[in-house]
Amino acid sequence: MSERDGKVHGCQIEGDDGFEFDSLEEGTRNYSLLETTPWLVDSFGRRIKNVRISVTDRCNFRCIYCMPAEGLEWLKREQILSFEEIERLAKILVRMGIQQIRLTGGEPLVRHEIVNLIARLHRIEGLQSLSLTTNGVLLKDLARPLAEAGLTRINVSLDSLVQDKFFKFTRRDALYRVLEGLEELEKYPQISPIKINAVALRGFTESEVAGFARLARRKPYIVRFIEFMPLDAAQIWEREELLTGDELRELIEREVMPLVPIPRDDPADTATRYRFADGLGEMGFINPVSHPFCSTCDRIRLTAEGALRTCLFAHHETNLKTVLRSNSSDEVVAETIRRAVWKKEMKHHINDGAAFKRTTKTMSQIGG
Ligand code: SAM
Ligand code: SF4
Repeated sequence: MSERDGKVHGCQIEGDDGFEFDSLEEGTRNYSLLETTPWLVDSFGRRIKNVRISVTDRCNFRCIYCMPAEGLEWLKREQILSFEEIERLAKILVRMGIQQIRLTGGEPLVRHEIVNLIARLHRIEGLQSLSLTTNGVLLKDLARPLAEAGLTRINVSLDSLVQDKFFKFTRRDALYRVLEGLEELEKYPQISPIKINAVALRGFTESEVAGFARLARRKPYIVRFIEFMPLDAAQIWEREELLTGDELRELIEREVMPLVPIPRDDPADTATRYRFADGLGEMGFINPVSHPFCSTCDRIRLTAEGALRTCLFAHHETNLKTVLRSNSSDEVVAETIRRAVWKKEMKHHINDGAAFKRTTKTMSQIGG
């Protein structure tokens, strides 16, 4: 069967550059789309609207579900994309239909002059949302400059509200600085909503749900639990040990109050949202393992060293840095991106037993 036959079921296709597509069991590739749409689409017809750009692989925390305590080798300055390169790529991507940019890392706020990058990206015409994922420890000083530079949304990672458990999660004694950073953020309503993301670990998180639920009711924060994914340096992740979003939701309903589902306004949203029954406060559950959302995925990722990843769990990256640094025109860069996105993986294989092969990179190296 040739690539141009339109529908391809249950077979493997070798791309012309030697990259192998995933085996398709359920999916249907629509080959006519690549030539007929101006947008960034993959071969399953998913339109890509969202890019996560990692600005550094470095971090001032060492979360147990992400980085090793020590021993990760940092990229050198010249290996990571400059602000000029990131801005150029962002402009090209927005012209291709990207609507949302989220900066991440490593810890994005440790990148020198990050506020300057936010200001540059904020000026890109057509960009609808500019957001940041941060561990929050530098927010007390940076909330104001970030707001003034044009940041519109933020996710703050916070896994525990108990000081010694926070230390166990992050290997840093910084809970109060993160809470202070969150308080500071509240002064800048132009950054809204403020979302808190907590990675759920069995044996750690169950006793925290009531505290997080109370925080979501008391403060203007949307608290979301994220299922632990096999992207940790220490490889402690085990399928059988997964603490699922459904379990956490049941705990909250039992310990705090029933939750009422909020209809999804964008099918590509990663979180299932709920409001407390009395209308006060919102919680969310991001369940990539127990309820994968690959079929509606509209995301791609750019690593700090300029590699395009079309899936968190990808084994293949497209080196955009080399293309950028070889005097290529914007058209050539765009075509390289288009061809890479076309081959976006159908789904992750975490639930497929031996078919799942971990990537060698940690979340901090990919940019979560
Ligand atoms: N340093 C920033 C932070 O922690 O928010 C941004 C980078 S971090 C890699 C992005 C997100 O990935 C954070 O919300 C973090 O909790 C999440 N994360 C890291 N490792 C994870 C894992 N193994 N499973 C699920 N989420 C993970
Ligand atoms: Fe750093 Fe974020 Fe990874 Fe924690 S999750 S080690 S804060 S990159």
